[in-house]
Amino acid sequence: MNHRIAIAGSDVAFECAGNESVLDAAARAGIELPYSCRKGVCGNCAGAVVRGEVAAIGTGALTNETCLPDQVLFCMCAPRGDIEIAPTAMRRIDPAARKRFTAKVFRNELAAPDVSVLQLRLPTGQRAKFRAGQYLQLSLPDGSTRSYSMANAPHESDAVTLHVRHVPGGAFSARVPRLTAGELVDIELPFGAFSLQEEQARPVVFVAGGTGFAPVKSILDDMLKRRIDRPITLIWAARQADGIYLRTAVARWQKQWPQMRFVSALSDDGAAGDGDFAGRADEALLATCPDLKGHELYCCGSPAMVNAVRDAALRHRGLDAGDFHSDVFVEGPAARS
Ligand SMILES: Cc1cc2nc3c(=O)[nH]c(=O)nc-3n(C[C@H](O)[C@H](O)[C@H](O)COP(=O)(O)OP(=O)(O)OC[C@H]3O[C@@H](n4cnc5c(N)ncnc54)[C@H](O)[C@@H]3O)c2cc1C
Repeated sequence: MNHRIAIAGSDVAFECAGNESVLDAAARAGIELPYSCRKGVCGNCAGAVVRGEVAAIGTGALTNETCLPDQVLFCMCAPRGDIEIAPTAMRRIDPAARKRFTAKVFRNELAAPDVSVLQLRLPTGQRAKFRAGQYLQLSLPDGSTRSYSMANAPHESDAVTLHVRHVPGGAFSARVPRLTAGELVDIELPFGAFSLQEEQARPVVFVAGGTGFAPVKSILDDMLKRRIDRPITLIWAARQADGIYLRTAVARWQKQWPQMRFVSALSDDGAAGDGDFAGRADEALLATCPDLKGHELYCCGSPAMVNAVRDAALRHRGLDAGDFHSDVFVEGPAARS
């Protein structure tokens, strides 16, 4: 049975079918609410239900530790009748803008012992349309999908570049080092709402953990191309020095933006050399950013790392919750849309 979902303070309303999540129903109607993992982990889709009732879908939890007392996770709940919701943000999108491609492996290079930079060419004449920071879904032969962030800027639209960390035993990532030029992969894009807030000119801090650098690179390359000049701090965290696998990109940005601050944070004992910070991403943030009021912070990496950085920034450095933007690399098959 269909229910009607209205967005408080707007004239936007749409139908939600059966056990469809609030998030998916909105997307189908061309309304993008904030989201990342769609698995109830990252908390990006948390928002309030101001009228009516929702129930958790399947065995999922309606809330997690990122939710405020009046919030639920819109990716995990379905309406029980007509409802009114108050998301933290919304944006109109064209649902038909998401496209499937059969792409060809063009280049596949090891950037670190456990990270491949994989370039996929789209069929001749086809273009990938996405915002810097978004991700794609790649289909595996068993029908499941995996999510990977585009590391290239949107203007390089005849190909997509992915940074894939090899997870031991991983159905896709462990196979990546053996992918050869010419092999075909099915991809769909774009997904995700992790992208720069265009209208802002405030200082911006990026915190990346491992291959969480991929969407940050896309955003910074895009800022460079569009000559956006904002005070920038980049913290890139890894266990060891080879986890900071693309220092050439950082050097290129620093040349363009001499005032850009770069912190490489290495957490393994004894891994930090001259110029590195010895410790985790959240520790590096606390040590190098004394006050984050009025800043925007974009954070991408594992759930544990993103949670620790969120906690450090909001509780100890005065960052406004609305200025924290994250993409969480939740493991395993992507949720179906
Ligand atoms: C929005 C989004 C964007 C993402 N972008 C990227 C990206 O740009 N680069 C990237 O490398 N990854 C990214 N990921 C993670 C990626 O989608 C896969 O989950 C990851 O590559 C593992 O897939 P797999 O098929 O190799 O392993 P699976 O076959 O899915 O898993 C194999 C085993 O490894 C475990 N496992 C899976 N992932 C991890 C992990 N990260 N840490 C520890 N254990 C794990 C699983 O629990 C399972 O036991 C992203 C995830 C999301 C949700």
